[in-house]
Amino acid sequence: MAQLTHPSEGSQPVRFALSDKPKEECGVFGVFGHPRAAEVTYYALFALQHRGQEAAGIATIDEGRMHSHRGLGLLQDVFRNTPLTDLPGHSAIGHVRYSTAGANTLENAQPIPFNTHEGPLAVAHNGNLVNARALRILLERQGSLFQSTSDTEVVAHLIARAGLPTLLENVQEAVRMVKGGYAFLFLSGDELIAARDPFGLRPLCMGRLGDAVVFASESCALETVGAVFERDVEPGETVVVDANGVRSIPASGATKRAMCTFEHIYFARPDSDIDGWNVHTVRKQLGRILAECHPAEADVVVGVPDSSISAANGYAEQSGLPVEMGLIKNKYVARTFIQPSSELRDTGVRLKLNAVRSIVSGKRVVLVDDSIVRGTTSRRIVRLLRDAGAAAVHVRISSPPYRYACHYGIDTSSSGQLIAATHSVDEICQEIEADSLAFLTVEEMMRAFGLKPTDPYPFCNACFTGRYPTEVYHVEKMDYAADGRSSRKEHQEGVRS
Ligand code: SF4
Repeated sequence: MAQLTHPSEGSQPVRFALSDKPKEECGVFGVFGHPRAAEVTYYALFALQHRGQEAAGIATIDEGRMHSHRGLGLLQDVFRNTPLTDLPGHSAIGHVRYSTAGANTLENAQPIPFNTHEGPLAVAHNGNLVNARALRILLERQGSLFQSTSDTEVVAHLIARAGLPTLLENVQEAVRMVKGGYAFLFLSGDELIAARDPFGLRPLCMGRLGDAVVFASESCALETVGAVFERDVEPGETVVVDANGVRSIPASGATKRAMCTFEHIYFARPDSDIDGWNVHTVRKQLGRILAECHPAEADVVVGVPDSSISAANGYAEQSGLPVEMGLIKNKYVARTFIQPSSELRDTGVRLKLNAVRSIVSGKRVVLVDDSIVRGTTSRRIVRLLRDAGAAAVHVRISSPPYRYACHYGIDTSSSGQLIAATHSVDEICQEIEADSLAFLTVEEMMRAFGLKPTDPYPFCNACFTGRYPTEVYHVEKMDYAADGRSSRKEHQEGVRS
């Protein structure tokens, strides 16, 4: 969603869809033991800007004092008038945010700094906690006062109230109580702590920058600052970095790896490696399998830029059809964008994407896209190609139909907005005005990772299957036990796999 201020709306932001893709919630980065920690974090966050454009922030620790700056907007806007020298210290964490849980307000921008009995602490979080509302009610009943609507603050309160001897123990106690998808970074006066959820739903990797230790949502951020990728943080693992070095605390119980497949399909940058798979390579393989399983009588393959270009290349290689840049994206249409009047209602999509007439005119086009969420943008793109003279448009999607809401940090928290939840593939084909439409099946998609149908899939595919790796809590219908867990669960969306 782009955000803008329309002249007629005064200072109230107007939000509208430039794209109907699901949005990632956040990106995190942390560094321990670098003389220019804030600067390193700033440039790493640039590499993660695709994960969130609504707010950004950096917190550093210097001689026991926390320094932080956060604000709404792109990273460069947030730090336009704040020099990085205002954030001294050898350790830092940073965050870019897309607001799915909690409003897009300054209080919800991260890292969130707060004080504990042990001193200052800052938290940065990527993901969504499915029991955050339950825990929040419990904490409020016990006297906690919240400054924000972000579920990240719930974790801060849990840490502050845990009352155990060390920060690490308090963090572990808090993390034990939260459920859902998370990659957390905690920065204190003498420690940087990283924690990934027991299913590994959200990505988190670590590396080295000289003697410094770094953590990032995606490995592309490590490359950007010249750090060397070391490994992914394991599901359920907590990693502590302090003056004594790096310490790993593995998951305390059994874990079932369920990495978000959509990171590979759409969210992550193609130059990132996640849990051992390179994103571009996976997307290309998805395109190859799409061509093999769902061929089309066509003359040319066109990918929807940018995220579907790798899959389009794979489709072309497998099918033997040429791949062309039949759609060009205007990379500068993003935030400061005035919604067109109704007479110019198609201008919005044309400003963002343009079909190249000389490439598609008279041609039967295979249009490769990574997903269809609401279907509105797909219809506009099909129309763009037809208006530019395409003789036919066969749409091929490099993922299964997106039918179920995501509760782990993606902005489809309701299935009501998902066209595949209520329409068959034939009906979607009609809605988007394509000549034909095909999706990958889950089994075909898993083949791109070298997995057979009989293999246990180390992925979350809940938005395609409705089988959620965790319970999905609905706070309105639950009672709560003293530890914040539900004692009476009346409704659970989807099934736990
Ligand atoms: S439900 Fe879909 S988008 Fe959400 S974590 Fe699972 S695979 Fe990713």
